[in-house]
Order: sequence, then C-alpha cells, then structure tokens
Amino acid sequence: MRVLVAGGAGYIGSVVTAALVEAGHEVTVLDDLSTGHADAVSEGARFVQTSLQESAPVLAEVRPEAVLHFAAKSLVGESQVEPELYWEHNVGGSLALLEAMRAVDCRRIVFSSTAATYGEPEQVPIREDAPTKPTNTYGATKLAVDAMLTSYATAYDFAAVSLRYFNVAGAAYGLGERHTTETHLIPIALQVAAGQREAMTVYGEDYPTPDGTCIRDYIHVQDLSDAHLLALDAPRPGEHRIYNLGNGTGFSVQQVVDAVREVTGHPVPVEVGQRRAGDPAQLVAASDRIRADLGWTPRHTDLAGIVRDAWETAQRRA
Ligand code: UDP
Repeated sequence: MRVLVAGGAGYIGSVVTAALVEAGHEVTVLDDLSTGHADAVSEGARFVQTSLQESAPVLAEVRPEAVLHFAAKSLVGESQVEPELYWEHNVGGSLALLEAMRAVDCRRIVFSSTAATYGEPEQVPIREDAPTKPTNTYGATKLAVDAMLTSYATAYDFAAVSLRYFNVAGAAYGLGERHTTETHLIPIALQVAAGQREAMTVYGEDYPTPDGTCIRDYIHVQDLSDAHLLALDAPRPGEHRIYNLGNGTGFSVQQVVDAVREVTGHPVPVEVGQRRAGDPAQLVAASDRIRADLGWTPRHTDLAGIVRDAWETAQRRA
C-alpha cells in the first residue's frame, strides 16, 4: 500500500515506518523535525521535511492510500504552560492533514491517541467506554482529534482508527527514545544507570498503591508497531474505531527502577520528590477490544525485557 507517515522521524513513528517498509509498503515520511531525527527514518522510506499545516502538496504528489498520524507535541508539563502550541500543532495540524487527505480522496487513517484522554480513571483497568476527562491540555488536544475523526468518518466516509497508547517503552530496529527534553521514566532511569545523570527523582511515594509509587502499563514499542499494521486494514468507510494499547499489567515506579538496576547492573540513586501535577495513581489498560477484533497479542510483556531492549539500544548509540 502507498502510505504516508506523519511524524515518522519520532520514536514511535520511526519504528512503525521501519515495520511498514519491512512489510513491503511504499512509505513517505513527513516530519518537521521539531522533535524527531532525520537519521531515524528508515532508508527504505522517502523523507519530506515539512509541517502538517504545509502537508497538502506532499499528499497531492504522493496520493497515499492511507495515513498513519504520529506527529504531535506530547509533553504534559509543557502543554499546561504553553497550551497554544498544543492546540495549534495537535488540533490545527491534524485538521490541516485531514483536509489534505480529503482533497486527494484518501480516507484511511490510523491516529496516535493516548491514555491521557481518560484522565483520572474511575475504574482500572481502563476500557474504551470509560469516561474521557483529560486532566491536561495534551490529553484534551488528543481527545479533540479523536472527536474530529468520528465526525470525518460519519460525514466524509473516513475509515479511522485511534490507538490509545499507554506507556510506550523499549526499542526496535535499533530505534529507541531520544528526546532532547527527556521526561519519561525508563529513559531517565537508564541515563542515571549510564552515568549521564547523577540521580533521579521519584515523583511521590504516598499514592494509594502497594509501594506508594504510581503504577503504569508499559507496552513494548514492537508490540505497539504490530497493532498499527493490523489497524491499517481494519476499519470500513464510515467507521471510527478506538482501541486501547497496553499489556494489562501495571508496574510501579519503584518496580521499574529495580528492573533498571537489575538489567544494567548499575546503581540508580533516587530521591523522593513531590507528586507531579496531573499524575493519576494508576493507569492500566484493558486491551480486550483490539485483541478480540484484530487478533493483536503483545509478545514482549516482561518488564525486564522491555528495559533491556531500551538499554542495549541506548548503549549502542552512545
Ligand atoms: N516518573 C518519576 N520520575 C521521573 C519520571 C517519571 O517518578 O523522573 C513517574 C511519573 O510520575 C509517572 C511514571 O513515572 O508516575 C511514568 O511517567 P512517564 O513520564 O514515563 O509517563 P506518563 O505516565 O506520564 O505518560
């Protein structure tokens, strides 16, 4: 299939691009490199550096049969202090992309949504029919795009899938997390283990969880990538499907830090700090819907294995 990957120079987009190329698709990556890296784009894909707002000429030339849309600003803290950036890039950019698709009669899309659309869950594990009450601007902008896709499916016959990621981690095809501003737990803990940071802070140990630290559902980027390839063919025109993507098993911040110590064999000094604003105590996915509908099965559910893949890839890069 001729596919366009928006945001294919970022962590998740670059892994899925490599998987699409491997599966024999004809891939064009579009990325403004605001946070991505040109060298992360698979050699088998064509790369065009441009923004979503300027994407129409690229779509007119490529005439994709489907779009995978990863391009977004995704820092929760930043979204609270600079919301304009998030509404402009995530919502304005997505609208421009959907209009560029409509102009060339491309109506098939897989969109990167997030567990942040749910906010503080009333029940764990979280199902797709749970209330959506995002607690930050990042989650609100992703939820707005989900709503946009529902109306584009209804009114314009789009075939759309929103994949709501929980905590994506690990590495595949030699591609791991490489953010200029790193805020995520596993890469930060690995940087401490590698001696690139002196210590790290655990954000709160007074949560109502067994060890007092927050619980998250870590999903391997390879399993996430598999889900994208399955989702590509799934929806019929007029349908917008929403699927959670997680392993259904939660690990605490403390368990993650312990796994990093064990896998790397290095000390990871931690300080206990204040809770981070907007952090729910527990986010764990119920992913039964995508398992039942698309036959998706995560293959890399072991926390130590996820951490090991991230560590080995980061070490090779260093
Ligand atoms: N966390 C932490 N110290 C850090 C980074 C993250 O204690 O330096 C915690 C954070 O509060 C959350 C969990 O680790 O409970 C996962 O955070 P991350 O930013 O990786 O993902 P999020 O769940 O926010 O998407």
